[in-house]
Amino acid sequence: MSDIDSASLPAGPDGARWINRLARFAHEVPDVRRDGDTIPAETRVRHPFGTDLPAQPFPEPHWVATSDDCAALLGWPSDWATRADWRALDVLTGRATWPGLHTMATVYSGHQFGVWAGQLGDGRALLLGEWQPAAGGPSWEIQLKGAGRTPYSRMGDGRAVLRSSIREFLCSEAMHALGVPTTRALCVAGSALPVMRETPETGAVVTRVAPSFLRFGHFEHFAHSGQHESLRRLVEFTIATYFPALREGADGLDPLHAWLAEVVRRTAATVAHWQAVGFAHGVMNTDNMSILGLTIDYGPFGFLDGFDPGYICNHSDTGGRYAFARQPNIAWWNLHALAHALRPLCADPDATLPPLLDAFSERFIDAYSDHMRAKLGLELAQDGDKELLDDLLALLAGERVDMTIAFRALSAFDRGAGATPPAFRDQFIDRAAADAWGERYLRRLEAETRADAERRAAMDRANPKFVLRNHLAQEAIAQAEAGEFGAVRELHDLLRRPYDEQPGRERYAALPPDWARHIEVSCSS
Ligand code: AMP
Ligand code: MG
Repeated sequence: MSDIDSASLPAGPDGARWINRLARFAHEVPDVRRDGDTIPAETRVRHPFGTDLPAQPFPEPHWVATSDDCAALLGWPSDWATRADWRALDVLTGRATWPGLHTMATVYSGHQFGVWAGQLGDGRALLLGEWQPAAGGPSWEIQLKGAGRTPYSRMGDGRAVLRSSIREFLCSEAMHALGVPTTRALCVAGSALPVMRETPETGAVVTRVAPSFLRFGHFEHFAHSGQHESLRRLVEFTIATYFPALREGADGLDPLHAWLAEVVRRTAATVAHWQAVGFAHGVMNTDNMSILGLTIDYGPFGFLDGFDPGYICNHSDTGGRYAFARQPNIAWWNLHALAHALRPLCADPDATLPPLLDAFSERFIDAYSDHMRAKLGLELAQDGDKELLDDLLALLAGERVDMTIAFRALSAFDRGAGATPPAFRDQFIDRAAADAWGERYLRRLEAETRADAERRAAMDRANPKFVLRNHLAQEAIAQAEAGEFGAVRELHDLLRRPYDEQPGRERYAALPPDWARHIEVSCSS
């Protein structure tokens, strides 16, 4: 860190507001030890939950994009990124530090593609600290991704490239605006640092924000390595810190079981929302599953263009394990892996865990039905609604009709006009099939009591006009790789209001061009 001018260490945000609960917890556990290796001993402290270490500085950083919405969550001033006394660009690229930070990389394990992968961990992520904007209010962990090697980097370089960092930044903020539970992104900083992938690229670091970055894999780690006392402590810490309402248990369940039931509920709700907006995560390994039910670790994700239940966005996923339509089942499988890790803490796991896991399908179906009902504009529940939806999805799948456009067009159905509107029927080659479904839908709408205008407005709040289509991300990335960040910022701004019409920005809602069919994205980059 020779390029840090120690005479002008940045003041940064109010140091007393870094509460660093995970770091404090990790240090309460007895066998904390200092450890040399490749990083100076005084800055590297190992404990059962991870290792304290600094970020590795990035050369010549520059801003690529920042999120005012995310900064507002933190209660930071609007000029946070440019304030001379904060030097946020330096701090968020490992070149300087703020008073109150406690940087650490955590250790976790996990199942990858259904197979036990052993120890993983924050191989390129680094927790900077946990920030609480106001005493007693919510708090936010701030994490760098791409901050350099850690003891958990294995063969990796600890870095991230510009394109994957932009994708994570844009998608985190876009998912939040869609209403999907997700980790947030504060900014992306680029660098001249060369990073070797299939071809040489440049490095970047994305700053992520979430109440906690704990994953299923953190719990699996301590269970599978036989560290059951650490597992127990971590579970107690997690419940007390992030699920305080469950500290005494709930619904006749003890805290552990009540907590697992809640993780099941949140996971089901989040995945139901993915299915409703056409989001495919791409790498639903248990180490990429948030214990808070947030969407986490944006890698080779993709939004459906043409509706295809078998859509695989990750070209490393040759077996299609993480295909779009399989996501609910995979989430359930992952919850089994989490529950399995909790067995050492349960008196009678064979009796108490299965019912909690079995509740997943009901939780999922409830959440999914609510979303799809809202998308169809159906306030009342009637027999035949499920068939109406299933037939629509089959029709979309049969012709690979664009999911986002087709659902958005549903609000054009007008009971008075009595015919399938062109906005919907023109999406199909088989117009007769579209009309036949449209007639059934119009008849079904007759049973609704809401006024058309009100129904339409509600539907437009459930069917986004704009999603982060792969080709849009790709265009913005191509420009960013040439040093021009306007398109990234434009896309970020567009996706802040995905349900609004946004006149003048229609091209972002249009069908993808032909070249976009061949975009493939792989796992870690
Ligand atoms: P992912 O597939 O991105 O969820 O990553 C799986 C594991 O590999 C995690 O433990 C990551 O921290 C680690 N990892 C991925 N990319 C890198 C990298 N470039 N350097 C170090 N570790 C990495
Ligand atoms: Mg990951």
